[in-house]
Amino acid sequence: MAVNKDSSVKSCDFVLFGTMGDLARRKLLPAMYQLDRAGLLHEDTRIVGIARSEMSQEDYVGAVQKALNTFVKETLDQTVAERFIKRLCYYATDFTDPAGFKGLQKILNPNSVMVNYFATPPSIYGAIGNCLKENGLIKADTRVVLEKPIGNDLESSKVINNQVAEYFAEKQIYRIDHYLGKETVQNLVALRFANSLFSSKWDNRTIDHVQITVAEEVGIEGRWGYFDEAGQMRDMIQNHLLQVLSLVAMDPPVNLDADSIRDEKVKVLKSLRPIDQTNIYENTVRGQYTAGFLKGESVPGYLEEEGAKTDSNCETFVAMRVDIDNWRWAGVPFYLRSGKRMPTKHSEIVVHFKNPPHNLYKDLYRDLPANKLTIRLQPHEGVEIQMMNKVPGLDSTTRLQTTKLDLSFSDTFKNERIADAYERLLLECMLGNQALFVRRDEVEQAWTWCDSILNAWEASNEPPKNYPAGSWGPVASVAMITRDNRAWE
Ligand code: NDP
Repeated sequence: MAVNKDSSVKSCDFVLFGTMGDLARRKLLPAMYQLDRAGLLHEDTRIVGIARSEMSQEDYVGAVQKALNTFVKETLDQTVAERFIKRLCYYATDFTDPAGFKGLQKILNPNSVMVNYFATPPSIYGAIGNCLKENGLIKADTRVVLEKPIGNDLESSKVINNQVAEYFAEKQIYRIDHYLGKETVQNLVALRFANSLFSSKWDNRTIDHVQITVAEEVGIEGRWGYFDEAGQMRDMIQNHLLQVLSLVAMDPPVNLDADSIRDEKVKVLKSLRPIDQTNIYENTVRGQYTAGFLKGESVPGYLEEEGAKTDSNCETFVAMRVDIDNWRWAGVPFYLRSGKRMPTKHSEIVVHFKNPPHNLYKDLYRDLPANKLTIRLQPHEGVEIQMMNKVPGLDSTTRLQTTKLDLSFSDTFKNERIADAYERLLLECMLGNQALFVRRDEVEQAWTWCDSILNAWEASNEPPKNYPAGSWGPVASVAMITRDNRAWE
């Protein structure tokens, strides 16, 4: 999807707010190192780490080195690491104190584009914007990257977006959904629009239904308090799964410009049929994991995790049938499923095609197995097509077998390293290309649709259905899809 408009990356001052936080250490600093290693950072690009604690430049460099040693998967290239370290600069201030920003101007390069990454709680995005403005640090080409979550419902997302909009225009704002930076998600667009095989077969005449699954093996990972406020619907469906769904379902954009793509995505979000509030559990399932076994080990239930409140009704699993009310997708359900403590970590899109109009092999199959296109997002990134083939041989009756054309990314592109999503996203931001970032109307449209479901769940007063850790969710999820004569992959 991301065509670099300008392959010559300009020099940037990458100002990393919350530079010692979890996200910065685990993802952002390693991603900048990888971009440096790939020769994609301008020689004058610098990383200005900002945090509250006073720290010497040496201590900051030491802390970044430690983060790289821990979180860069392969052995560090010492020449690159040395070059990278020379780009670092540390600045201490409270992010809500305009006076604290006074010295920042002096360390910024007037010839560089200022890219601010807010790796902080969203509640202080507005305060940081204010500090930057008060100190005359926002220019026309200044950019800001915002992390999710943008609010926990439509109203709170508007508050955050309004606060940021006081200081930055929409064309300066880069809202992250890291799924959009994944190679396989970008490949989805290439697959759809660079192959006539698919582009001409991508609607309700040929496709029966689509399944999108994002399954996590992990539980809460010590973030019980944060997660319990959100739940799986806000944490995964509102952003990642709806973004993937809109890329699968969108009409062809006129070109690959950011707004052309985002215009098409938002049309899909506007066409999502509101789920029937009076019968909310007909097409939605909420689940919560109980203690169980995963990969041979016993794991605690959600309510037994460290820091848990035992009366929480928060969902750790969601399954739903989604209908898209437009010309292309009328009658084609999209089944979404996402949960924690599933048997494996596994994210994929499966497009189920319709059966051929007439079955010539009735003696062998009452219903021929349908073609399936599977796009594996993680792990084992790749694309697989299931089709029917004749088994070779001189048998008197023809034998058929389902076979798979399997394109594994790691086997096919052996010499290409699969970049982490954040590498692609940081690069695109430095290039000034917003195609892989979420526009305000997309966020708000997604919240509008999700809010009605969240409100109906709350009004129903029904607790989530239990499922044992290590299973594929509550039986109600299977019942929902079986009712439609279909089955989860
Ligand atoms: P952390 O709490 O680990 O880091 C936040 C950093 O911001 C801390 O270093 C904190 O400093 C600093 N900070 C907060 N308030 C101020 C302030 N007023 N002045 C100066 N510094 C301040 O959070 P994460 O790194 O985990 O997350 C950052 C953002 O990214 C959040 O919005 C989160 O929701 C989002 N996110 C995180 C993901 C992750 O994997 N971690 C994944 C997806 C999104 P101090 O330590 O001094 O308090």
